[in-house]
Amino acid sequence: MTRKIVLTGDRPTGSLHLGHLVGSLESRVALQFSSDQYVMVADVQALTDYFENPQKVMNNMLEVVADYIAVGIEPELTTIFIQSQIPALAELTAYYMNLTSISRLERNPTVKAEIAQKSFGESIPAGFLCYPISQTADITAFRADLVPVGEDQLPMIELSNEIVRKFNRIYNTDCLKESKAHLSNVKRLVGIDGKAKASKSLNNAIFLNDLPQVIHDKVYSMFTDPDHIRVSDPGKVEGNVVFTYLDAFYKEKDEIASLKKKYAQGGLGDVVLKSLLNDILQKKIKPIREKRETLSKKNLLEICFEGTKKARDIAQTTLQEVKEAMKISFFKE
Ligand code: ATP
Ligand code: MG
Repeated sequence: MTRKIVLTGDRPTGSLHLGHLVGSLESRVALQFSSDQYVMVADVQALTDYFENPQKVMNNMLEVVADYIAVGIEPELTTIFIQSQIPALAELTAYYMNLTSISRLERNPTVKAEIAQKSFGESIPAGFLCYPISQTADITAFRADLVPVGEDQLPMIELSNEIVRKFNRIYNTDCLKESKAHLSNVKRLVGIDGKAKASKSLNNAIFLNDLPQVIHDKVYSMFTDPDHIRVSDPGKVEGNVVFTYLDAFYKEKDEIASLKKKYAQGGLGDVVLKSLLNDILQKKIKPIREKRETLSKKNLLEICFEGTKKARDIAQTTLQEVKEAMKISFFKE
């Protein structure tokens, strides 16, 4: 059986959070043993909405890499690289631009929701609208079979596969490969405020580098059921963030079921549930935080340097094949 190729990445717009952990990071830790895995710090993509604040992107770059190593992504098994340092990705993006349309990009539901959230007004940066094309470049450059991502990324993979099919058809080649999303059991972790998605930009997440007191305070501030005033009142389980997080992080499924039943009947207080969740999340994050503390900046930079060198060669090879298929490979290097 041939080894699968895995590619995914994160925007260095902040440290990573529990949504990343259950949505994608844990899959990567598992996949790295049986596949050729590439994980990218997507700084070019981060700049599509933080172009006025490159310092923020730069500051978060090593934070994200530290999170990777802290959760168990091993640089010996996974190639970790920096998107902006791979020129072939920008070149591929330029060629793929012609293979989709503005209206197709505008219909992307994830981009649509992000545009609404970011209040660009009339000035949506062209680069932001086009970032799914640059993701197509990332995925195809490494010939990825699998892309471990959260649910919000499904429209990007759909577009990527459309571009792949169109490229292969127009240039009469099979040089590009379609990919599949690899979804985990928790495709989308909600925010602690009950919003649809925990995200760095909304600052409604528990971060992997949060201190114990911060985790505690976030858990105790979680949205539950505003009508559940007295302990004896029947409470709503649906839409209750504490239960959503217990579902995602507590292994004792029978106990969750009995807690839900009791809560719905009345007689179970929010504080009991929050205290249980706090214990579970503290246990989950403690080893990650401890591992993080052992990492040095120099070591993280070295990991990025080595990974980027390897990734650059692979992307360049794909670019060469793409140019040959397009008959624009005039001066072979
Ligand atoms: P930003 O707000 O800057 O977009 P983000 O929190 O959405 O940041 P990304 O870097 O955009 O994080 O996403 C990286 C990966 O993590 C993607 O595969 C995405 O689907 C996944 N992911 C992010 N947030 C969640 C979440 N709440 N639940 C599940 N997966 C998530
Ligand atoms: Mg995002």
